Amino acid sequence: MTPSREDGTAPSGCLFCAIAEKRIPASIVYEDDRAVAFRDIRPQAPVHVLIIPRRHISSLSAVGDEDRELVGHLHRVANEIARRESVSRSGYRLVANCGPDAGQAVDHLHFHLLGGRPLGWPPG
Ligand code: AMP
Ligand code: ZN
Repeated sequence: MTPSREDGTAPSGCLFCAIAEKRIPASIVYEDDRAVAFRDIRPQAPVHVLIIPRRHISSLSAVGDEDRELVGHLHRVANEIARRESVSRSGYRLVANCGPDAGQAVDHLHFHLLGGRPLGWPPG
């Protein structure tokens, strides 16, 4: 598969890089050497956590072959947070908005973990 490479250099104003580096405060619920998760500032459900890689990747479209393991790890982190937030059994949704039609507002890859209420389908 053709990789979709980025050089990993963050634009200086990236909000989520600033949160990962703790230059801007956030309600962090999980962190390790590759990932950070924090509560969304405008929650859309009782549980609304954003899961990001520490490495700057602008969107799902910029994920390349070299990021396979990292993206798998982010999903494993989501599963762990769902367990900690007590939504593993009731259910939850993992969403990545990519690009304008999906309403991506922050250009640093993030997965929304939503749960704690029935979630409508289709979204938006
Ligand atoms: P998206 O539209 O998928 O790019 O989602 C961006 C999300 O980031 C939105 O749900 C915002 O509410 C959330 N957000 C923006 N600024 C912050 C912040 N400082 N701390 C936590 N979440 C934020
Ligand atoms: Zn960033």
